[in-house]
Amino acid sequence: MAVPSFELVSGYKIPAVGLGTWQSSDEKELEGALNAALENGYRHIDTAFVYQNEHIIGRVIKEWLTSGKVKREELFITTKLPMDGIATDKVELYIKKSLESLQLDYVDLYLIHFPVATSERKNPTDPFQTIPTDHVAVWKKLEEQVDAGRTRSIGISNFNLKQVERIVKNARIKPASLQIENHIFLQQKELIKYAQEQKIVVVAYSPLGSPGYGKFVARFGLEAKPVPSIFEHPKVNEIAKKHGKTPAHVALKFQLQRKVVVIPKSVTANRVKENINLFDFTLDEQDMKTLSDLDVGEAARVCDFKFAPVLADHPEWPFPK
Ligand code: NDP
Repeated sequence: MAVPSFELVSGYKIPAVGLGTWQSSDEKELEGALNAALENGYRHIDTAFVYQNEHIIGRVIKEWLTSGKVKREELFITTKLPMDGIATDKVELYIKKSLESLQLDYVDLYLIHFPVATSERKNPTDPFQTIPTDHVAVWKKLEEQVDAGRTRSIGISNFNLKQVERIVKNARIKPASLQIENHIFLQQKELIKYAQEQKIVVVAYSPLGSPGYGKFVARFGLEAKPVPSIFEHPKVNEIAKKHGKTPAHVALKFQLQRKVVVIPKSVTANRVKENINLFDFTLDEQDMKTLSDLDVGEAARVCDFKFAPVLADHPEWPFPK
């Protein structure tokens, strides 16, 4: 079954389900996941400069394009400007680096990854140092990337309501998309309402609650805070059972029915397949109400970017402290 899309203000369409690729930098593993995704109907892939996997994605896409199994215009590729690229003299440099790694002439969506700007680090283990930034000035540089044909649409990620509003008020080219953490336990209803009123398509990252986050923060000697599990929650399981589907299906379909795009990550072929098998059932009004009531707000934020405490001291830190 074809995957539905949502219309962007840029006039292009974004497929409602994409493959997330954060923490997928093992070549064989990611290649397998990408091939499984493309074979099972995914046409939307989410990456970022900082994921250090654009070159792997570029290689696999190239194979699919060259073999004629897919056309460029059928694919939707998102990548992101890293924190150390949030400066007017760095945007073009970073998008060009991403395009080169992805072996593409253009991406479909280019996002400012996170609102805090940092100085460049020589290697990933160097400490972060924040620097001042002006989002409006940086946004103008993103607009220039659209003019130059390097990206079709532009957007922001991890921006809070005030930060999104400032871009909206000052943009020549409106943000097409806002990518934020969103799952059953962190629903961000007010932010989504505002974005959707502005015709900004919301993309839910960590739509399954990012169960791999603990592994990521362990690298920084930290422990992820305890948050409820979508897979173990009795109400999610009850709804899943009622429809003959899995808890992952329920979590993802909940977002689609709120007109929110999902980008679940998996490097496990059968899960990649499972996560797009969403179009043979509908959550009814009561299911949607039950799931809506499971929102616990900020306490359930998983990707809190607290692995670098210095980020939270920046004036553009987006989350409640
Ligand atoms: P997800 O909520 O997508 O969860 C991914 C985890 O869930 C992986 O550990 C995966 O394991 C497991 N999983 C996937 N499908 C299933 C399933 N059907 N049943 C059981 N377990 C499953 O978390 P992410 O944080 O990765 O978010 C998704 C994507 O969003 C990212 O990959 C990235 O592209 C984007 N993102 C963007 C951010 C931003 O700042 N803009 C921040 C965080 C994410 P396995 O892979 O082993 O199968």
